[in-house]
Amino acid sequence: MKYDPANRIQDLRQFGEFGDVNPSITDSSTYTFLKAELMEATFHGEAEGCFLYSRHWNPTNRYLAEAMALEGTELAWITASGMAAITCSLFQLCNSGDHIITSVTTYGGTYAFLKNYLPKFGIEVSFVNITDLKAVENAIKPNTKCIYTESLTNPLLQVSDIPRLAAIAHRHNILLLVDNTFSPMILSPAILGADIVVYSMTKFINGKNDCVAGAICGSKAFINALSDVNSGTAMLLGPVLDPLRSSSILKNLNTLHIRMKQHSKNADFLARRFAEEGIPVIYPGLPVHPQHELMRSLMNEEYGFGGMLAIDLGTHARANEVMQMMQMEDVGYLAVSLGYFKTLFSASGKSTSSEIPEEEQRKMGLSEGLVRFSVGLDNDIERTWTKIRKCLVRAGII
Ligand code: PLP
Repeated sequence: MKYDPANRIQDLRQFGEFGDVNPSITDSSTYTFLKAELMEATFHGEAEGCFLYSRHWNPTNRYLAEAMALEGTELAWITASGMAAITCSLFQLCNSGDHIITSVTTYGGTYAFLKNYLPKFGIEVSFVNITDLKAVENAIKPNTKCIYTESLTNPLLQVSDIPRLAAIAHRHNILLLVDNTFSPMILSPAILGADIVVYSMTKFINGKNDCVAGAICGSKAFINALSDVNSGTAMLLGPVLDPLRSSSILKNLNTLHIRMKQHSKNADFLARRFAEEGIPVIYPGLPVHPQHELMRSLMNEEYGFGGMLAIDLGTHARANEVMQMMQMEDVGYLAVSLGYFKTLFSASGKSTSSEIPEEEQRKMGLSEGLVRFSVGLDNDIERTWTKIRKCLVRAGII
């Protein structure tokens, strides 16, 4: 039967303390035990079902973690940000002297962590074009621990061939980690072969831009290792999410499938209009996108090709001019981040990818005039297009 992540969420039975239809929020950092031996056993990971301390596990986070297994993984761990999910996963897997292979196009924060921060710990990183599978395989060395990529890369929207990357990784006894922040519901990386899937839940998963949060989805063994009291990176670095936030994200997760369809429908509409006007546009739903057919073969089709698109306005000055006009016309907000009910746009090269040196940006095809859109949930997207078109005409672009 076809895999549908929405069914995983639909079928969850999570009740509150009094039969509440929303699970109760556990407003405690610590937990009592009736028997001292049970506390000791819980510390040693020898007792199931008991809670010890909320940096270790919190019942509210546990509910959200169960729901985040929408990925088809055994379990998840809830973090206080997407960056915490990424950094804890990589630190859990890698020791000093190890090597990571990653896509050269990734979110700027991830790039900075891999490029500038990991060398402090003697962890080596190779940056490759993730669509060049030969280059990926050629980069593997005896000390390589994992391949890290984004399912849809930020901001160039390259599609990672997850099944083939997983095959390469597993042939060499290493792991594949995928950041699926741009495409929840649409792509199910774990079903496609990824070993660990990370999310910035700040984005589409929560969809409200009211908090920062993340998730690590993987095997029970990996999640247990992360929260081990002696050696777990999540337990020892401590980036746990507050349970009040977990509770609100869990509620928002239940509308994710509807939101993703609308984000995709609207982004597809705008991408086609930009293309008709001769504006260079990157959107995996367009047949001219180099990985359009690949994406079609990997995706859970009914959710579309996602809410992210990018256009190239040539120069940084033009990008700024058009973005400011669009904001004044109420197309959306000139802001970073994504997955919001309103459209957000930003010039990636000078914002969320500014950590990548300009020379590298040009090499990977990130032009200075690139404007990334996270298309909102607008009911009347034709009306939105009329506003965008007006700005493009006024700026002399069309
Ligand atoms: N992964 C991707 C693809 C992102 O775009 C971002 C942030 O923009 C992150 C991870 C980091 O997430 P957070 O801001 O929740 O730490």
